[in-house]
Amino acid sequence: MTADVRLATGSTAPGREVLAHNYAPLPVTLHSGDGAWVRDAQGRAYLDFLAGYSALNFGHGHPALLAAAHDQLDRLTLTSRAFDHDLLVPFADAVTALTGTQMLLPMNTGAEAVETAIKVSRKWGYDVRGVAPERATIVVAAGAFHGRTTTIVSFSTDPDARDGFGPYTPGFRVVPYGDADAVAAAIDEHTVAVLLEPIQGESGVVVPPADYLPRVRDVTAAAGVLLVLDEIQSGLGRTGTTLAADRVGVRADLVTLGKALGGGVLPVSAVVGRADVLGVLTPGTHGSTFGGNPLACAVGIAVCRLLEPGDLQARAAELGAVMAARLEEMQRAGLLAAVRTAGLWAGIDVPADAGITGRGLCERLLARGVLAKDTHGATIRLAPPLVVSEADLHTGLDALEDALRA
Ligand SMILES: *Cc1c(COP(=O)(O)O)cnc(C)c1O
Repeated sequence: MTADVRLATGSTAPGREVLAHNYAPLPVTLHSGDGAWVRDAQGRAYLDFLAGYSALNFGHGHPALLAAAHDQLDRLTLTSRAFDHDLLVPFADAVTALTGTQMLLPMNTGAEAVETAIKVSRKWGYDVRGVAPERATIVVAAGAFHGRTTTIVSFSTDPDARDGFGPYTPGFRVVPYGDADAVAAAIDEHTVAVLLEPIQGESGVVVPPADYLPRVRDVTAAAGVLLVLDEIQSGLGRTGTTLAADRVGVRADLVTLGKALGGGVLPVSAVVGRADVLGVLTPGTHGSTFGGNPLACAVGIAVCRLLEPGDLQARAAELGAVMAARLEEMQRAGLLAAVRTAGLWAGIDVPADAGITGRGLCERLLARGVLAKDTHGATIRLAPPLVVSEADLHTGLDALEDALRA
């Protein structure tokens, strides 16, 4: 397949006024996908280096995931949690086995999983820790991204995500990311949890110091508060390990999963973790109509089967090393101001004097047949599907180098 394509002009144009303007997509209209490649309506091929913000870790149309979905579509798609179905426990077994956790609560979107973790942490704080009623606080990090609900944007430090959506939910303390002492200083008798991304994805793949999570783990354990890690983007193979926290040997009390858990087929999310913590929920206290539906469970189980052998994680680490070496070479050549990588995941910063924004670079990449997305001005996140071939990875990185030199 060739990456030699022209900019798809006008593809966002006619009729788009009917859509609310909460995204500013690149000018391309996609029609089909296969593995690391997608095609637009005119049949032009593009390498997908965003992979649905890591929801497409297994690429487009993975045969095992499609087979699981097709098979389940014909059998049973929704029961509601008013009735059990035959894949619910197998799904919980598969995800908890994969992540080395004890219990699972199924949801649909990432934001719902984070909301669930917040509710469980608060209830645990009141019921188990004896925190004074209505006083629970959760320590969170500046620059974080945890979703778009009113409670979650209440503690966002991104003005675009937060401004204009108040009144805001109280009960959160924001500290700088990567500073374990700041976490320790923010914990008091009302604190029930510390909620962090092990690597900040939306912020531009910000990798904290290696001792950060281990120290936060020690601090939270000593204080008797929960460590909640949001692995919705970093988890499920992206960083070269099943969970990003595995890289530094840290085990959280609760972990949120999403994005890749749905295999790029449908939204599937979950909170996994300690049984005594998730156990504070009792019937009627929390729920979701679609959470844990048979179709979601079928795809989620198939996702776990793909990750069980560990080959995709190893592949992410190997290809990630290839990608990191090439990006660092571009940085040494002065083409990039900064490079941050973790497995097959990179945040790159365009130099301030390059005369091009992150968006501008993404447009040049599009013209060269590579899809990527800027985040916060000069930063671009690269997250090719873990199934990308090494040759295709180089094709994409060649296009990046060419776009930076243009
Ligand atoms: C994408 C993301 C979310 C929100 O997931 P949605 O499915 O869009 O609600 C939450 N946390 C992190 C770290 C994410 O990357």
